Amino acid sequence: MLTLGIETSCDETALALVRDGKLLHSVMSTQIDIHALFGGVVPELASREHYRLIGRLYDELLEKSGVTTADIDVVAVSRGPGLLGSLLVGLGFAKGLVAAGNARLVGINHLHAHLLAPGLEEDLIFPAAGLLVSGGHTHIYRIEGPDNFSLLGRTLDDAAGEAFDKVAKMLNMPYPGGRYIDRLGRMAEPESSLFTRPYLDNDNLDFSFSGLKTAVGLYIQKNPHLILASQDMASRLFDESMDVSGLAHLCASFNHTVSETLRIKVERAIGHMKARGEAPRSLIVAGGVAANSRVREAMDGVAKRFGIRLSLPSLFLCTDNGAMVAYAGELLAAKGMHHGLDLDAIPRGQKIPDDYLREVH
Ligand code: ATP
Ligand code: MG
Ligand code: FE
Repeated sequence: MLTLGIETSCDETALALVRDGKLLHSVMSTQIDIHALFGGVVPELASREHYRLIGRLYDELLEKSGVTTADIDVVAVSRGPGLLGSLLVGLGFAKGLVAAGNARLVGINHLHAHLLAPGLEEDLIFPAAGLLVSGGHTHIYRIEGPDNFSLLGRTLDDAAGEAFDKVAKMLNMPYPGGRYIDRLGRMAEPESSLFTRPYLDNDNLDFSFSGLKTAVGLYIQKNPHLILASQDMASRLFDESMDVSGLAHLCASFNHTVSETLRIKVERAIGHMKARGEAPRSLIVAGGVAANSRVREAMDGVAKRFGIRLSLPSLFLCTDNGAMVAYAGELLAAKGMHHGLDLDAIPRGQKIPDDYLREVH
């Protein structure tokens, strides 16, 4: 089965072809440079860029792969959550291909696609505990299979990636700044009592990162010398010549607080499942923040402690990409699922029902 994946939910225009569980080729254009000028994603510009680029990226993908439109069996497209205008570009393109040819259409929950991504590299083991840590979401799931996700916990305010990006912004680092914090934080030992681990004094599986962001903001106010004089300095942060010890200490401590908070809630989730006699057989961690080195280490520790497999995607599969969408589409299509041309986009903030696949024919 040959599946095309189309991803336009945010600021990456990404397409990929997957055949029988293996990635053939992928193409992608990121808009980071455009949105960095504004310190965050500007929705109107994002959809305009997707529209400008999707056709030529598609041509490039076919050329690279040596296939034609007629060879494609399934067109899988992220239908949400995401920016409405951006999603509509991907959906419109997908529907055009399906209407013109013989392929089947499958609308994909972008968040589920993130969590299924490691399946391109190793067999996924279900039931699994799933942690999605991305730019817009921090979700804990129980996953019974590719079409069966139950949401157990979520952030009440900022997502983990958002917390990274907002802290980076306060330090005048370029958007999205999570990767700078990660790298700088490797250059110092964390001071684990510098920031309180947020929202743990309860028995639930939800998160709240906005208080931590405020605490870091106050610390920066008291230590204004940590703020970069200009964003251009970010590229020199890793030169030997620059003294980044104060910044590294802050980044290490903040990063540690986030990864510890994630670790504790994931352990709690697995503990709850075990107590119900429904122990998961693996832990899947995905989304952009799954690229974070301290988060990866913390999750490795969780899996070892419970004696279960850890599935973590390679770095290029953590942030948005077309391969994860194609792969999720292949798994659903293999179960006989597909959507009609009336498939709708589901913008951010509008809940995708857990049983959204029921509408699939
Ligand atoms: P969503 O999937 O929730 O709609 P998104 O697709 O925009 O959001 P992703 O592409 O999965 O999010 O992830 C982007 C986020 O990951 C950004 O917030 C970015 O800063 C963060 N990120 C990427 N690499 C790292 C890293 N090494 N450490 C921390 N954060 C990181
Ligand atoms: Mg992105
Ligand atoms: Fe994403």
